[in-house]
Amino acid sequence: MKYEFTIQKTTSPKEKPDPNTLKFGKTFSDHMFVMDFETGKGWHDGRIVPYGNLSLDPAAAVFHYGQEMFEGMKAYRTKDGRIQLFRPYMNAERTRKTNERMCMPDIDPELFVGAIKALVNVERDWIPEKEGTSLYIRPFIIADDPFLGVQAANHYMFIIILSPVGPYYDIPGGGMAPTKIFVEDEYVRAAVGGAGFAKVGGNYGAALKAQTRAADHGCAQVLWLDAIEHSYVEEIGTSNAFFMIGDEVITAPLLGTILPGVTRASVIELLNKWGIKVSERRLRIGDVVKAAEEGTLGEIFASGTAAVISPVGELKFKNSSIIIADGGVGPIAQRLYDTLYGIQTGTLADDMGWTVEV
Ligand SMILES: *Cc1c(COP(=O)(O)O)cnc(C)c1O
Repeated sequence: MKYEFTIQKTTSPKEKPDPNTLKFGKTFSDHMFVMDFETGKGWHDGRIVPYGNLSLDPAAAVFHYGQEMFEGMKAYRTKDGRIQLFRPYMNAERTRKTNERMCMPDIDPELFVGAIKALVNVERDWIPEKEGTSLYIRPFIIADDPFLGVQAANHYMFIIILSPVGPYYDIPGGGMAPTKIFVEDEYVRAAVGGAGFAKVGGNYGAALKAQTRAADHGCAQVLWLDAIEHSYVEEIGTSNAFFMIGDEVITAPLLGTILPGVTRASVIELLNKWGIKVSERRLRIGDVVKAAEEGTLGEIFASGTAAVISPVGELKFKNSSIIIADGGVGPIAQRLYDTLYGIQTGTLADDMGWTVEV
């Protein structure tokens, strides 16, 4: 089914930001997508309208009980001027799972991707061209019933906003820089049975405390451990974590506490294709420390839409410091970054069928 949306163009277009000083998530394009849901009526009135404030009842459910979800993805401009999305149907399928967990209405992947394509198409000029830049896409759904009872709402808004973003690392000429990561052994992100696999605001608001503490220790992010034993490695900040020990790359299994990243899935598929052993299995932080001591810890890196691949140079764990290999960028992280970023931006042929043209 093909969905149709109305378009109301802005009469006061903004000035485009300087591509050389773009930060993450600070400037937004001229238009946004908005669509309503009502029980009995379903999703309706999909529309592209000028970017602007929302008017919501202060009793709207989202403000009180956090019934909401979000997604994150990017549109890239290729050197020959095409615009492409990276595996958007995976974000659509993840949205369905998140919505199911949050008692929010299902949304047809064709409607989800169709709305993104329609908005990005209207905002084509907002996709920066400079190396390392892209257009970040933030779809989200909020419950806006004005009712203070704790129950699933009957009215929702699906909104998409767009933000031109610069390179994740501030390095002349592009590339990656190794990060310092704080192993968080007190606060937890998600427990089995909770909503760790869903991209819902509550998971992130509750993580700020640990992130602040990590920053106090000079670290960019936290490495989350499991909620029961505070022992098994789970995720790094808002990205998935990979550990290369010996000839095996290990990442946490999807048991309900891990956000199933599109980048994570792509990393696993590439490693399999390259014949590099990759395992989704539980791994204790103690075994990571032991591997570092024995010299078998080759690399640690994180994966996610924002940075694609983010190598870890150092772990801070219980007042000690673990330098990973020589503290630089490992060869697997580099190869994954080059391949994923190349496919996303069209400098490498997409032999995986991952990109979708707008
Ligand atoms: C979004 C997110 C990721 C990465 O997902 P991608 O689809 O690869 O961007 C990983 N962990 C958490 C907690 C996240 O919120």
